[in-house]
Amino acid sequence: MTAHEEEHDRTGPDARRDELAEALAEVRARVADAARAADRDPAEVDLLAVTKTWPAADVALLTDLGLTAFGENKEQEGAAKAAELATLRPDVPARWHVVGRLQRNKARSLARWAHAVDSVDSARLVDALESAVAKAVDTGERTDPLAVLLQVSVDADPDRGGAPVDEVPALADRVAGCAHLHLGGVMTVAPQGVAPEEAFATVWEVAAGVRAAHPHATTLSAGMSGDLEAAVAHGSTVVRVGTALLGRRWLPSV
Ligand SMILES: *Cc1c(COP(=O)(O)O)cnc(C)c1O
Repeated sequence: MTAHEEEHDRTGPDARRDELAEALAEVRARVADAARAADRDPAEVDLLAVTKTWPAADVALLTDLGLTAFGENKEQEGAAKAAELATLRPDVPARWHVVGRLQRNKARSLARWAHAVDSVDSARLVDALESAVAKAVDTGERTDPLAVLLQVSVDADPDRGGAPVDEVPALADRVAGCAHLHLGGVMTVAPQGVAPEEAFATVWEVAAGVRAAHPHATTLSAGMSGDLEAAVAHGSTVVRVGTALLGRRWLPSV
């Protein structure tokens, strides 16, 4: 049993459900306040629950609360959780996003369960995903294209992932040319040591450039537990929230 599962065992599903309901209401209120402060409609901002390190039982409770979009940063953990949720809540149309750095050799297994990869940052990864999804379609393992966001790195720090700003337009064209990928827009993680406002303002411009060339690519995934207000102020259409929803992660991640 993992530490999370033991905790879950002690508190019981009802206590956990209440805790998650309260946290969700708080996150929704933060997003709504930030949207209104920026003269935006709160309904323009979707919530991706980042469930890495948390058990599928928690994901099931989140689906009971109305959430259907979940983010994982490790291929194997995501695959196992997606399968478990399908057993726990067979009727829920959950959508699974990969949000973390991805090795190309994971593309083939990911194509079996993931609906979206939000962290695409190189031409080689685009090509690996295209060929992996094509194979999965051929073998009947999936029918729909893989939704793709291009991860933008404002400071070009190679350790955190993301493509440098000037490489994004060519990557967008490359994804758009792939039959089995669907370009949704861009994603970013604000770098440490830079004011998030500054990073989000830069990424908003990158997103606008991608949208000008590919009008359907309207998603801007920006903002996490600590900086979602700044992201919503700068045009984010999806906030990716882990800690503020599920609590502090006990296990190391990323
Ligand atoms: C873990 C993670 C999140 C969520 O972070 P929190 O600070 O826990 O809300 C969002 N995006 C990515 C890419 C992540 O890896």
